[in-house]
Amino acid sequence: MARTDVIVLGAGIVGTSAALQLAKRGLAVALIDKRGPGEETSYGNTGILGGSGAFPVAFPDRISDLIRIAFKRAPEANYYLSFLPKVAPWLLAFRAATRPQKLIETARRRHPLMSRAGAEHELLAQESGAERYLRKDGWLTLFRTERGFDGIKPNLDVSAELGIPARVLDTAGTLALEPSLYPAFARAVHWPDIRTVSNPLAVTRAYAARFVKLGGMLLNGDARSLHRIDGRWRVDAEEGHVDAENVVVALGPWAPDVLEPLGIKLPLAIKRGYHRHFRPQGNAGLTRPLVDAENGYAVAPMEQGIRITTGAEFAPRDAPPTPVQLDRVVPHFKTLFPLGEPAEAQPWLGKRPCFADSLPVIGRAPGQPGLWLDYGHGHYGLTLGPITGRLIAEMITGATPFTDPAPFGPQRFN
Ligand SMILES: Cc1cc2nc3c(=O)[nH]c(=O)nc-3n(C[C@H](O)[C@H](O)[C@H](O)COP(=O)(O)OP(=O)(O)OC[C@H]3O[C@@H](n4cnc5c(N)ncnc54)[C@H](O)[C@@H]3O)c2cc1C
Repeated sequence: MARTDVIVLGAGIVGTSAALQLAKRGLAVALIDKRGPGEETSYGNTGILGGSGAFPVAFPDRISDLIRIAFKRAPEANYYLSFLPKVAPWLLAFRAATRPQKLIETARRRHPLMSRAGAEHELLAQESGAERYLRKDGWLTLFRTERGFDGIKPNLDVSAELGIPARVLDTAGTLALEPSLYPAFARAVHWPDIRTVSNPLAVTRAYAARFVKLGGMLLNGDARSLHRIDGRWRVDAEEGHVDAENVVVALGPWAPDVLEPLGIKLPLAIKRGYHRHFRPQGNAGLTRPLVDAENGYAVAPMEQGIRITTGAEFAPRDAPPTPVQLDRVVPHFKTLFPLGEPAEAQPWLGKRPCFADSLPVIGRAPGQPGLWLDYGHGHYGLTLGPITGRLIAEMITGATPFTDPAPFGPQRFN
């Protein structure tokens, strides 16, 4: 049996970063997962450290988009009809939270996290020997039409206000950056200062290895065994019991499995998303990720191949995969790029843990002494893992937090 200062439950990018940030501050930490670090949602993302410019991903506001989604013709979203009644309250809250004025408020509210996220990754990557996975040439949003481009203008204004550089490019300017693209688009926005990652799994593994090097315990176990005993928290890991005064729940989409039995029910929804790797034809290649804005998917050059990632699927978390969105988006990408064969037999399925206001929950759990929450990072968990790990580490150690944590606390749902 081990006694530690903190147990971190979940070794995705969020939990691994929190564990590393705590270990860096001299605490004895156990990081517990049922799998290896970074093997779930944190494995398969697009690798953009700060996507969408200033604005978070929003509920569609055009009737034509809603109709396409309703008739299951939209590449950007899919849903199980039988699941809609269950997720409807969340969808209504999401719609309300992503109205134009609310998007601006959210952009400002999360800016203290987003603006430091890339630099915090860089710090952890440097000490973990993971710098080679960080690229510094930005990413692109492509627009097939001028009308599509018009839609991003409010986002560009707020991005400029917040100091997020963006370069508006014509087709020729974009082809100068990405010569393998076909000129099937009218405009692009290049976000030059946003870092991207060429292998998200390798980054989380490197942070976990650094954590172990600092004396952290990386253990296998079921987080659902968490219970209270003699005034401390205990988890039954395969290697034996681990006790601690503090526990950080960083289980991403699985956080409710541990929290709900403790009486903590926050309005989390899961947006499922798929990816598949492809080989390029001939010598074609991409140097940075891109988003095909009007068709609602993203593409990133990864060590494993050209990774195409999809938007949201509203379905039960654990339902079997239904990767119909990939079937819808691959033909679109083939009009932009000489795409070859898939690199693996089956698409990958991941589960984004999302709150309707597009912010994670960081802070003390209500009514449970020593229990801390660090989950719900939605579309931005790879980006925000290290910086929210720093915030929760500062809160647990009693240091002055680098930003006011109140906007991210669970009390906002009261
Ligand atoms: C298609 C797609 C594209 C994305 N693109 C981006 C992007 O470009 N940029 C970005 O910032 N974010 C992106 N994201 C979001 C990002 O991947 C997630 O927000 C992030 O990975 C969440 O990390 P996490 O550590 O909270 O969850 P996870 O990585 O899922 O980690 C949770 C961990 O908990 C463990 N666990 C679960 N249950 C138990 C249990 N009972 N006992 C023990 N352990 C348990 C799991 O094994 C897992 O390791 C994308 C997501 C998807 C799906």
